[in-house]
Amino acid sequence: MKKISIVVPCYNEEKTLPIFYKEIKKISKMMSEVDFEFVFINDGSNDNTLEELKKLAKKDDRVKYISFSRNFGKEAGIYAGLEYATGDYITLMDADLQDPPELLPKMYDLMVKEGYDSVGTRRVTRQGEPLIRSFCARCFYKLINKMSKTEMVDGARDYRLMTRQMVNSILSMKEYNRYSKGLFNFVGFETKWIEYENRKRVAGETKWSFWKLMLYAFDGIIAFSTVPLSIATFLGILFCIVSFIAIIIIITKTLCFGDPVGGWPSMVCILFFVSGIQLFCIGIIGAYLSKTYLETKKRPIYIIKEENLGDKKEK
Ligand code: UDP
Ligand code: MG
Repeated sequence: MKKISIVVPCYNEEKTLPIFYKEIKKISKMMSEVDFEFVFINDGSNDNTLEELKKLAKKDDRVKYISFSRNFGKEAGIYAGLEYATGDYITLMDADLQDPPELLPKMYDLMVKEGYDSVGTRRVTRQGEPLIRSFCARCFYKLINKMSKTEMVDGARDYRLMTRQMVNSILSMKEYNRYSKGLFNFVGFETKWIEYENRKRVAGETKWSFWKLMLYAFDGIIAFSTVPLSIATFLGILFCIVSFIAIIIIITKTLCFGDPVGGWPSMVCILFFVSGIQLFCIGIIGAYLSKTYLETKKRPIYIIKEENLGDKKEK
């Protein structure tokens, strides 16, 4: 019998967990032809998420939990979950039911019958989301797809079913700055996309502020494109050409019309402008340097405080 592992990163999800568990239990009953395993990652929650998980684990021995020593972020949760999942097929789901579990039978069917390596989900609407957030998201996808060779699908969720083989190749990338949306596409394999309408969170609150999302988008660009680094070179060349032309104009003007001293206000403007550009470029280089710095430290992606993995612990 094949086994599906459902990996669920949870951060302060005490309200959503009981509802979520009920739903996935329903689905697992419907899909009686497969075994299930639920791997919950408590990402340093400061509410009763861990207690909820322990309660669930007592009721159902398919429930495994991993509890981090602090909040390491969703990406770390995903990594740990994928590392400890033992299924033949592995899926990621948010705990808030924004990733509809009822799509799972269809996803599994597509994988088994049509031989896809992965079935991903895409939101075709962004209903219920602030307009500015949707607008920025759309701009981000346009921008990153122009800048990166790895394609990022607009509206793609982390909710996807994958084969063991694909998961292993994702795990083989041990980078510290993880941007899963890119990593999933980077590894290749054949992916089928299914679409659905946006859902609202069943309970609790989103953990992503606008600012956090902006930083995440920035991380994505740094992780999957080196185009910003070329901006410095491009601007450098552009400014050399402009200044060369300006020098010729000034010399000709002086030779033909003499040289009344003037133009210092424009000089100050130019000085400010050019130093601004220089700082901007140094900033870009700094962003890459800081990421490289963090990578070279080889710090662990997460630290586990407690778990109930039993002998499955040795991967
Ligand atoms: N999450 C996490 N660690 C974090 C932030 C979020 O494990 O630091 C989990 C969260 O519990 C949820 C999923 O990631 O299961 C998605 O988070 P959320 O629903 O807040 O994001 P949104 O759907 O609003 O983008
Ligand atoms: Mg959500």
